[in-house]
Amino acid sequence: MNPRRVSTPIQIGNVTIGGDAPIVVQSMTNTDTRDVMSTISQIKELEEVDCEIVRLAVPDMQAAQALTEIKKAISIPMIADIHFDHRLALAALEAGVDGLRLNPGNISEPDKVKAVVKAAGERNVPIRIGVNAGSMPVKGDPGLSTARRMVEAAMEQVKLLESLDFNLIKVSLKAFDVPTTIEAYRDIADKIPYPLHIGITEAGPPRTGIIRSTVGISTLLYMGIGDTIRVSLTAHPREEVIAGYEILKSLDLRQHGPVLVSCPTCGRTEVDLVRIATEVEQQLLKVKKPVKVAVMGCVVNGPGEAKDADVGIACGKGRAVLFKKGKKIKTIEEKDFVKALMAEVERL
Ligand code: SF4
Repeated sequence: MNPRRVSTPIQIGNVTIGGDAPIVVQSMTNTDTRDVMSTISQIKELEEVDCEIVRLAVPDMQAAQALTEIKKAISIPMIADIHFDHRLALAALEAGVDGLRLNPGNISEPDKVKAVVKAAGERNVPIRIGVNAGSMPVKGDPGLSTARRMVEAAMEQVKLLESLDFNLIKVSLKAFDVPTTIEAYRDIADKIPYPLHIGITEAGPPRTGIIRSTVGISTLLYMGIGDTIRVSLTAHPREEVIAGYEILKSLDLRQHGPVLVSCPTCGRTEVDLVRIATEVEQQLLKVKKPVKVAVMGCVVNGPGEAKDADVGIACGKGRAVLFKKGKKIKTIEEKDFVKALMAEVERL
């Protein structure tokens, strides 16, 4: 794995992005921002799974005004996602947001950007220049690759912000196409010192979207690129946060809660292991400790295959061996599989 690219850290509220701060997991609400109660309740759900920053769509002035009340009720930093109308960015800043996302594809007029930059600078609020392949500025050389045009669109706005003495910048260059996204980030990584927000946009529903996002995000992280991630999924945003941590855990970039090891099952499996593993996975969502838990389908290979797990079960017909660090501690009945395993997790 390449060493992490060196970037100048910025603060989104109390969360540091870039430098040697941990790679931050963020998500975006999919409630109507004007519906204050539903939005607050969804952010609370995100807080429960340790989402570190939340972004909210601000499609109109009513949504911008709703941010004040939402901000008061939540405990993680909030970013306003702005398209088309720079006045919404000004109103969001008034409402006390911790960060802004501007799309250079639809807010590029220097005077308007200037007004936003001035207001953000006065409040020390960073701005993400969020380029999206689907909404790029119409100008630019059509002969260039999409990745190249994305980088040029971002660089143009970076220069504009720098010319205004503003450097609380973060950049993203997202496309649905994974190679395009990787190429764009790799290109911009050496050109600017700012933190990079990485992700694959409009990746799809969880089954396919998690794979697409993981391929793109992990490749970049392995190259040392990326300071904050958002897994975009057509699902409850909680799923995005869970997937985000799983990516970081798989690359050993962060520890977060338990790791579940479960076997793929085979002709030797004599219990409904899929149901058992799913139940354990569900219960582990509430556990914050970084423990490794194994759910294995047989006593022949189970303890051995999961010997580096902190605690696990190796299931046989109607009974399972409960083991700790690969060593058998007792035999349990099928009705107690999940309960006994979780009790041991609690005890660790
Ligand atoms: S642990 Fe046992 S049941 Fe599970 S895949 Fe391996 S051999 Fe099959």
